[in-house]
Amino acid sequence: MGGKAKSGVSGQTRQEPGEATRYLDLVLGDQLDRRSPLWREHEPATDRVWMAEAAGESTHVPSHRARIVLFLAAMRHFARDLTKDGFRVDYQTLDQPDALPTLAEALERSIRLRRPQKIRMVQPGDYRVMVSIREVCARLELPLEILEDTHFFGTIDGFARHARGRKQLRQEYYYRELRQQHQILLDDGEPCGGQWNFDKENRQSFGKQGPVLTPEPASFPPDEITREVIDLVNRMFPKNPGETSHFAWPVTAAQAQKAAIDFLDHRLADFGLYQDAMWTEQPYLHHSLLSSSLNLKLLDARWLVEQVEKRYRMGQVGIASAEGYIRQILGWREYVRGVYWHFMPEYLDRNDLGAELPLPSVYWTGQTDMKCLAEAIGQTLKLGYAHHIQRLMVTGLFALLFGVRPREIHEWYLAVYVDAVEWVELPNTLGMSQAADGGVMGSKPYTASGKYIDRMSNYCRHCRYRPDSWKGEDACPMTVLYWDFLLRHEKRLATNPRMVMQVRNVDRFSANDRKEIRAQAGRIRLRMV
Ligand code: FAD
Ligand code: SF4
Repeated sequence: MGGKAKSGVSGQTRQEPGEATRYLDLVLGDQLDRRSPLWREHEPATDRVWMAEAAGESTHVPSHRARIVLFLAAMRHFARDLTKDGFRVDYQTLDQPDALPTLAEALERSIRLRRPQKIRMVQPGDYRVMVSIREVCARLELPLEILEDTHFFGTIDGFARHARGRKQLRQEYYYRELRQQHQILLDDGEPCGGQWNFDKENRQSFGKQGPVLTPEPASFPPDEITREVIDLVNRMFPKNPGETSHFAWPVTAAQAQKAAIDFLDHRLADFGLYQDAMWTEQPYLHHSLLSSSLNLKLLDARWLVEQVEKRYRMGQVGIASAEGYIRQILGWREYVRGVYWHFMPEYLDRNDLGAELPLPSVYWTGQTDMKCLAEAIGQTLKLGYAHHIQRLMVTGLFALLFGVRPREIHEWYLAVYVDAVEWVELPNTLGMSQAADGGVMGSKPYTASGKYIDRMSNYCRHCRYRPDSWKGEDACPMTVLYWDFLLRHEKRLATNPRMVMQVRNVDRFSANDRKEIRAQAGRIRLRMV
């Protein structure tokens, strides 16, 4: 028998007499969307909503505990609101005595119990989950209807059409196509501000004086439901990484909208300028912290884009910030989703640069004398958050230069961020940051030495290493591994027009220097694996 949680969600195991079920409508943890097409034909009198907390979803990668809390707390709030509104919700809680460990097992039991005519769901965010649900339905000979996720501007078929016949895929072209299709930031068909992309104006650092502090982002102290989930997660997953004591993420649509308005009012104006900058003990800076709300579908991406454009048109924010922000949502976010569904499942195993080393243990501890890594990993383990440049140009860059197996670093990113869902995480990790996908996500690897980190942050000023040094006691590991990377892949990179300049720089090294760099890199690897 299912247990009743304080949140009002309860487990189900028994068929009440006379309760036929027409559709069993599945709602996964990242589908908490009251605007979803699932509700168009849903009849509470004949249909049921099905939701399940499955332990396997928290352990297939060792999920950060704040990530588990976020998903479960948001699911419980969503189920509570549906029930209040008269929907019939079958909900498996993690701790009900007869809880089943995987989504597939829990679903199979519910199907046998409810005997619906059809299963319906919106396109899931994870290929693995889609396959497992398809398998259950096929085994039980039950029709499964998968609906397009209208949260997104683009569709999976639309991306396939965009990709057809193109030699090379690029985010920029898909982004322009979507801007035109949806009439976003256009004046008489031309891009506002006279150009499509203001990326060059998005790269300022804070200089020596550091950031002028903006108000703290909106935060949402846990209510009773969330506190109950925090206790549960700490009890059931004591060995999973990450802390829960700082948990303050939005877990309802109302909170997500409040968080968005707070960003639009206080941080959007400088978002563009400082998008790439980093600073010690300042995890959020001008970022929006809206990825988890968007990915769980608590926040409507269309509404958000509309609000950003409105503020630009009202003269409240400049074009570089408005376009810079919209590009992240309408450009990158849509593009990575297209890439994921276009290339899965083989995408997962790509390893174009043949990287084969295990993930260094520092990724799970943050214990290192490299200040950049200590900051980015430390805040990740504490909060489940790091902003884009910390992910791409600190933790991602280090893994790339170190030579970590893409699959391992992918599993780390999927585990440790509260916003991690595979459709968005995988192309960003394997493609953008590890250059393992053969150039789908980028025309060149994102490589840099410690000097880049020095330019964009104050980390190096607090570090025992020197960012410009590749030999001796003070040699910066990032810089040593950068030169080693160029040397290891010299031949191949020299054929890439966008890498030629960087590769040419290794010409200045003598044969002895080259030997010393390779040896130094070898010692760093030995020390860290
Ligand atoms: P902001 O900086 O405020 O950006 C605004 C929004 O734009 C974000 O909320 C997000 O929805 C979207 N966005 C920005 N950059 C990207 C991008 N490259 N791809 C897709 N959407 C983007 N994002 C996730 O949502 N989930 C992930 O699991 C994830 N894993 C990543 C792994 C790596 C290695 C890298 C390099 C990036 C990853 N990203 C991921 C993209 C990006 O880093 C995060 O979306 C962003 O840091 C979230 O913080 P924010 O909401 O403050 O974003
Ligand atoms: Fe990182 Fe090197 Fe800078 Fe230290 S000196 S913070 S290791 S880039």
